[in-house]
Amino acid sequence: MLAQRVRNIAPSATLAIDSKAKQLKKEGKDVVIFGAGEPDFNTPENIKQAAIKAIISNQTRYTPIDGIPELKQAVANKLKRENNLDYGISEIIISCGGKHSLYNIAMAVLDKDDEVILPVPYWTSYSEMIKLAEATQIFCKTDERFKLTADIVEQKITEKTKMLILNNPSNPSGAVIEPQEIKKIARLAVENNFYVLSDEVYEHFIYGSDRHISIASLGADIKDLTTVSSSVSKTYAMTGWRIGYAAGNKEIIKAMGNLQSHSTSNPTSIAQWAAVEALNGPQDSVKEMISAFDERRRFMHKRLNEIDGISCIEPEGAFYAFPDISEIGISSTEFAGRLLNEALVAVVPGIVFGSDNHVRLSYATSIHEIERGLDRIEKWVNQKTAAIENEI
Ligand code: GLU
Repeated sequence: MLAQRVRNIAPSATLAIDSKAKQLKKEGKDVVIFGAGEPDFNTPENIKQAAIKAIISNQTRYTPIDGIPELKQAVANKLKRENNLDYGISEIIISCGGKHSLYNIAMAVLDKDDEVILPVPYWTSYSEMIKLAEATQIFCKTDERFKLTADIVEQKITEKTKMLILNNPSNPSGAVIEPQEIKKIARLAVENNFYVLSDEVYEHFIYGSDRHISIASLGADIKDLTTVSSSVSKTYAMTGWRIGYAAGNKEIIKAMGNLQSHSTSNPTSIAQWAAVEALNGPQDSVKEMISAFDERRRFMHKRLNEIDGISCIEPEGAFYAFPDISEIGISSTEFAGRLLNEALVAVVPGIVFGSDNHVRLSYATSIHEIERGLDRIEKWVNQKTAAIENEI
């Protein structure tokens, strides 16, 4: 009955686990959710007010398919201000969330049998998008700290390499690529003439002294090969509003708009006006959220490493910890499934990110919840280990 294209893809595990956990909560179960990456902060007041104003002033009709000029200009200003990138508004598209931008890029650029270099661990949806585009995934394993280097990428380049996916900081590992490696990767892309999809959705979530560098800002040649993708979802706690954007080569952006014209049409008009305020308005809420996440990050990292059988590399960015659970002796799917059923804690199995030795925990939730969740994980792991020892 179903087309081959959908038979081969898996539903988004991050979202599936999140719905399951939220459903259990609704049924009265006291679940601690470390599932989908979604800030627990509310959308800032000024952004909500901008949306209300848009409704009252009847900004409720079709907008240009690829977004209102005011939002494209706000994105252009943001890219200039924060990333030192110059894009005209014909080089920018607004989509229904970052995921939609990424999907459109994959559909606009990839052909059957093109090779796409995908660093492992990877965000689960990249893999499915490549499959939907009928391209070939070329997995490349990052180093022991989950960092991507130019040497690792170079080993995977062939005649068929069409694109490299860069997600910096990384979901799920939280790794941040070293600046000198980004430069070398840019050189590789230019020398070998492949595209770079640079997903910068976690760019603000870098802790410590490092600053985000957009690969597109490293020269005109690499800028032309790169499509930068981002969204307002994480930075402004706007996951439900579904506004993402991409900036890149005019031809690619135009093709993405054509695709959009036959699928979603414009992103919601009201949400677009809210996003204008998010990008142009005060940015204090971003700083507040990041400093809260930094505290949570340090706490979760420390607490995870205190649990026997679990070890976790310190995440430097995004809002995920990606601990190694392989010593416990069960697969990541079994770990996540049993942890939810037996201890009411939701985590995402690493297998959906390309590593069965790990699970992913989002720390975009309160310290109190993190404390409760990790106490439960510790107790559950200790019981589990004791049970295995008894069997032996
Ligand atoms: N990107 C977030 C995550 O990885 C949100 C869920 C999704 O779209 O995958 O959890």
